[in-house]
Amino acid sequence: MATHRLNSMEVKKMNRNAIYRYLYHREATSIQEIAQALNLSLPTVTQNIKELQERGLIVETGLFQSTGGRKAKSMACNSVAGYAIGLDVTRNHVGIVIIDLSGTIIKHVRNHFPFANTEVYFKSVGKLVDDCVEESRIDSSKILGVGIALPAILSEDRQTVNYATVIDFKGGSIRRFAEFIRYPCILSNDANAAGFTELWGEKDIHNVVYLSLNNSVGGSIIVNNQIYTGQNHRGGEFGHMTIMPEGRTCYCGQKGCVDAYCSAKILSDSTQGSISEFFRLLREGHEPQTAIWQEYIGYLVLTVNNLRMLYDCDVILGGYAGAYMEEYIDTLQGLAAQKNTFERDGTYLRVCKYKLEATAVGAALELVTEFIDSI
Ligand SMILES: [Zn+2]
Repeated sequence: MATHRLNSMEVKKMNRNAIYRYLYHREATSIQEIAQALNLSLPTVTQNIKELQERGLIVETGLFQSTGGRKAKSMACNSVAGYAIGLDVTRNHVGIVIIDLSGTIIKHVRNHFPFANTEVYFKSVGKLVDDCVEESRIDSSKILGVGIALPAILSEDRQTVNYATVIDFKGGSIRRFAEFIRYPCILSNDANAAGFTELWGEKDIHNVVYLSLNNSVGGSIIVNNQIYTGQNHRGGEFGHMTIMPEGRTCYCGQKGCVDAYCSAKILSDSTQGSISEFFRLLREGHEPQTAIWQEYIGYLVLTVNNLRMLYDCDVILGGYAGAYMEEYIDTLQGLAAQKNTFERDGTYLRVCKYKLEATAVGAALELVTEFIDSI
């Protein structure tokens, strides 16, 4: 227990926060139910509810059916009390989402927008954000901020980029974006953001490894619902694990990296860069897609098995390519089980739940999390 005795202000904030969170995870509930569940007095709950209502954070949604006496009011969180914007910045595109406080996507756009470390680029990104807000017709004063996910390794304080090869932004600062964006900005690593999205709203899963199969391979390690960043913010850089001694040359310069065998490009290079077209042709049994896939899944399963051995938790296939793997999951699970020393069950391997803009959504969810913490 903490030795510090909480003062009345702190107790008040804790109660208010607990009440809000209780409501957040439920469709609707009554004051009586909250009081009972949180072991708080009715006047305390009533007072806090009043305050949260005045701030527009919760709303009355009607009356509960009652078998007699006064009917209880039903209360719920007002999910449109705030919004967050998420950007997924890649080498060739910018994806933008606007989500509400419940994490629901209100609007999303994906533009072909090659990254350039120039003023023109950052100015244009600022304009993309403004246009997106304008088209969505939401009240801009309700926007909490903009989470910007980059294919880059960030500094400890997440203000600058320590390492980037997919985009030319090594040494880059958040200020380059923030200069042209009128809302508070935060930076995230792309795979960490996508992994964060996967765990959102999950009550029973606390540890996962997320393997991000985009045009470059990345990943994130989530332990106890927290991203494990490692000593140098390079935790989860699965793309550069060596799976083949003296193997294919990776874009990083080393040989035999996972990236050179499992990136989405390995598949989409046969279909002019279109991953959906690759999976369409594969489904119809075309060549060379079938042969490419057979070889690809061999390396993929090898990587997955290594992750299972390292972390002993669920492994999630994500990224552009992972999002298409649902229909092949039985095969992949079967192959993973065959490789496993300890188990004959491959169901620890799953496909990501969020197929659409998981990275941008995750970057935005960080702002929602901060907001909820602050209530
Ligand atoms: Zn590499």
